[in-house]
Amino acid sequence: MKYDVIIIGGGPAAVAAGVYAARKSMKAAVIADQIGGQSVVSDGIENWIGEKLIPGSELAKKLTDHLEGYKDVIDLKIPEKVESIAKKDNDYHVITSNGEYSTKSIVLCSGGRHRRLGIVGEDQFEGKGVAFCATCDAPFFREKDVAVVGGGNSGLEAVVDLLPYVNKVYLLVRDDAPHGDPVTMKEVEESDKVEIVRHAESQEVKGDVMVEGLVYEDNETKETHELAVQGIFVEIGSVPNSEIVKDLVEINDFGEVVVDHRTNATSDAGVFAAGDVTDGPYKQNNIAVGDAIKALLSAYDYAKKK
Ligand SMILES: Cc1cc2nc3c(=O)[nH]c(=O)nc-3n(C[C@H](O)[C@H](O)[C@H](O)COP(=O)(O)OP(=O)(O)OC[C@H]3O[C@@H](n4cnc5c(N)ncnc54)[C@H](O)[C@@H]3O)c2cc1C
Repeated sequence: MKYDVIIIGGGPAAVAAGVYAARKSMKAAVIADQIGGQSVVSDGIENWIGEKLIPGSELAKKLTDHLEGYKDVIDLKIPEKVESIAKKDNDYHVITSNGEYSTKSIVLCSGGRHRRLGIVGEDQFEGKGVAFCATCDAPFFREKDVAVVGGGNSGLEAVVDLLPYVNKVYLLVRDDAPHGDPVTMKEVEESDKVEIVRHAESQEVKGDVMVEGLVYEDNETKETHELAVQGIFVEIGSVPNSEIVKDLVEINDFGEVVVDHRTNATSDAGVFAAGDVTDGPYKQNNIAVGDAIKALLSAYDYAKKK
C-alpha cells in the first residue's frame, strides 16, 4: 500500500496536518513517538487561541483526542520513531522503529528540542525552576530572582520577557558582554533589575524540591560562585529535529529545514515541512498549526497530481 502522505511528528503541527489529511480523505499516516510536542512540559500555556490558560499536559490530551477522532480514516502509528527516509522512483520510503512505509509525499513536523547546558541538576529541576521558554513561563516567576543563561539574542529577549514579572535577573554570558540587536540590548542595559554576569560557565543547579541556586565558574579567574535564584532560563539556542531529512532537503546553517513560507514546500518536490523544524522565525504552537495546514494542503495538491 502506498500512502498519499505520511506526516512525521506528534506536536501541534503534526496533529493539525493529520486532521486536515483526514478531512481531505487522503490515504495518510501520522508517525510519532508521542503526541503533544514540546510544550507538554509547560505548566500553563497562555496563548493557545481558544483557551485562556491550559496546562501543556491538557493541551496534549486535547490534541490526542482530536487526532484519535479520525483513527478510522487515517493510520496512527504511535508510538513509533522515524529513523530514516529514502527516495526511490519519486516515492519516499519511511523507515521506522517498526517497519517501512511508502508514500507519495511527506509532511515533516518533527519539531525541535532545546539545546541544553548538560550540567548537574538541569534535568532534575526541569519544570521546577529550570525553564526553556521565557515567553511562555515568565508569569510563573513573579517577584522572583532568576538567572538567564545565554549571551545571544534569545538570552536578551528572555530577559526582556522576564522584566515585567521578576524582581531581579542575572544574565550569564561566557564572554565580555552579551551580543544582540541594539534595541533589545539597550532595554536590558537600561533596566536596574538586570545584572550581567560575565565570563560565566554554568556548572550546577542547586535545590531541594525547587531551584534554589545556580553555581557557575568565572572562566578567567576560575573562581566558583553561587547565585541565589528561584528560576533558571536556559537560552542557548534550539536544535531542530531535522537529521532524518538532512540528505533529502535544503537545511540552513542552524539545522532548520528551509521552506517556501507561502506553501511550506522544501527543496524536494514531495516533501513539505512545518513548525519548529523549519526556518520560520517564530517558534510558537499556533504558528506551527497554521503552517502545518498550509504544508498539508500543498502536499494534497502535489499528491493528487501524481
Ligand atoms: C517548555 C516550553 C513551553 C512552551 N510554551 C509555549 C507557549 O506557551 N505557547 C506557544 O505558543 N509555544 C510554546 N512553546 C513553543 C511550542 O511548544 C513550539 O513552537 C511547538 O511545540 C512547535 O510544534 P511542532 O509541532 O512544530 O513541534 P514539536 O512540538 O517539537 O513536536 C514535534 C514532535 O515530533 C516528534 N518527533 C520528532 N522526531 C520524530 C521522529 N523521528 N519520529 C517520530 N516522532 C518524532 C517529537 O517527539 C514531538 O512529539 C513552548 C516550548 C517549550 C519547550
